[in-house]
Amino acid sequence: MRYWIETLGCPKNHVDSEKLAGLLVSQGYELAVSAAEADLVVANTCAFIEAAREESIETVLELADAKRVGARLVVTGCMAERYGEELAAALPEVDLVAGFNESLTALAPATPVALRKRPTPAFDLLNLPRPATAAPWAYVKIAEGCDRRCGFCAIPTFRGDQRSRSTEEILGEARALVAGGVQEIVLIAQDLASWGNDRRRASLGEAVEVLDEGGTQPLIELTRILSSEVERVRLLYLYPSGLTSGLIETILATGVPYFDLSLQHSSRPMLRAMRRWGDGERFLERIAAIRAVDHDATFRSSFILGYPGETEEDQANLLEFIEEAQLDWAGFFTFSDEDGTYAHDLSGHVPHELALERLREVSELQDQITATRRDSLVGTQQRVLIDAPGVGRSVRECPEIDGIVIVDPALRVGSFAEVQIVASHGTDVEGVTL
Ligand code: SF4
Repeated sequence: MRYWIETLGCPKNHVDSEKLAGLLVSQGYELAVSAAEADLVVANTCAFIEAAREESIETVLELADAKRVGARLVVTGCMAERYGEELAAALPEVDLVAGFNESLTALAPATPVALRKRPTPAFDLLNLPRPATAAPWAYVKIAEGCDRRCGFCAIPTFRGDQRSRSTEEILGEARALVAGGVQEIVLIAQDLASWGNDRRRASLGEAVEVLDEGGTQPLIELTRILSSEVERVRLLYLYPSGLTSGLIETILATGVPYFDLSLQHSSRPMLRAMRRWGDGERFLERIAAIRAVDHDATFRSSFILGYPGETEEDQANLLEFIEEAQLDWAGFFTFSDEDGTYAHDLSGHVPHELALERLREVSELQDQITATRRDSLVGTQQRVLIDAPGVGRSVRECPEIDGIVIVDPALRVGSFAEVQIVASHGTDVEGVTL
């Protein structure tokens, strides 16, 4: 039996797909060369915003067309989790709509497949084995769900509160990846900096502050252990209040001074309306404090434009912040009105065209900043990890998200090389082997 998985959405979804693949392989399935050749076709969907949902539906319909007669089509992932019943009713082409943590043992060849959504997790997807990876880097998801309730975000409504994996489980997965040749582990979770707080709360039987200054934040110890066992450890999705001084020190000590801060806006009224911590001034202070220790630290963030109530003053505040922060990388998104979120009921919705206009304005500014920061690398020496023939990355570039370092295609995939940066082309730079 052969399977095919089509993955949409964020890195967290890609990890889930790898785990599903691991489960199917353990059941005797082999990877097909295309959806058309598979006996089992899985669409791992994304429901984050309206555009992602549309793309997911289109993909499901394309897979329904492409699959051969008799092959089964399964829809899993965030859309299945969030809109299971509606999807099952609206897509008769689909044989099974199954949530993330549902056992795909229901897909065993002899099992008749019913059209249904089963809400009860039958096993923990996070702790499934995963197949060997061809790339020298891998995402490792260390928690599922989120304890925060940001105004725009529906994730907690369908992924639930945070459930952290244990240190042993994470180290076990990381060690297997390293043994298979992985040189860079990218830790991901919805709220990475809060990893472990739920376990500690449970063991202490009391509430623990999410922000935990004083060097006892669980992620600090995990990052320390991992960085002693793998060349590179990169942390994604850091909620700004979780970026404690202890965590900053630890990240800098790993040799990967890369800070992916989930900021979303800089205007204080906007951030309060989003039910989030901080403001532009505090963010700038933290960025400056990090740069004071490591001038070369790299910063990435993402921002939402057109959140309900956003004014021209808020937009001016954000533009000013972007100019001052000089982030290396940034992603901008227009607000997406999601059912079941706090923002859904807020007044002052911003017309989509206006939100788009604001997005274009900040993107244009950030593109110039990114290009300038990339230009400034020309003439420097960088140590790059070779991801694929001709494609390298220094510590400044996160895989799949940021630009790359163009290198000699003869360099061996999985090796490290010292290169001199000789040119920059927008987000990418070019390196000559030393
Ligand atoms: S921290 Fe992230 S996942 Fe959690 S509620 Fe906020 S935006 Fe959503």
